[in-house]
Amino acid sequence: MARRRKPMSLKKAQRLCRQISAEPADFSRIEAALASQWSTVPAPSDVFWTVANERLLRLAREEKWRELSTVYRMMAMTLYDEERPFDHVLKEAHNAQILEYKSISKTSYGAHYKGVRILSRGCCNECDRLNGQTYTFDQALIKMPLPHAECTRGWCNCSWETWISKGR
Ligand SMILES: [Zn+2]
Repeated sequence: MARRRKPMSLKKAQRLCRQISAEPADFSRIEAALASQWSTVPAPSDVFWTVANERLLRLAREEKWRELSTVYRMMAMTLYDEERPFDHVLKEAHNAQILEYKSISKTSYGAHYKGVRILSRGCCNECDRLNGQTYTFDQALIKMPLPHAECTRGWCNCSWETWISKGR
């Protein structure tokens, strides 16, 4: 039974923009730019997606992986709420998370990181099978097993923790 999608309200679009740490001025700037480009007032969701994409490009350029991961995650969550496909976007959030850990591993703080480990957080029976699996950073980036394709929960809750060289 398909739930009828309600269009994103202005309030929600502005809240989402705050959650991805966009500047408040970005919303009105993008809104005005789209309005002049399209000769009509853009829907709040169009403004949000444009702000979010602009933010992604900037964070990727600046290699701010943790923030990039947060923005991708928020975008995926928004798609999920709207019952649209989101796995490809959530995958990018996981990717950026690995890049964050990988960059920390090159500093003295993270020199003992060997890679990453999956935490299924009791997501679902399928994901629980992956719990504790370890990957080097590059293996994880190439294979990217999250979100788990077989997840039965809807929104896959699995995440990563660093795998450290104590062999625990
Ligand atoms: Zn799952």
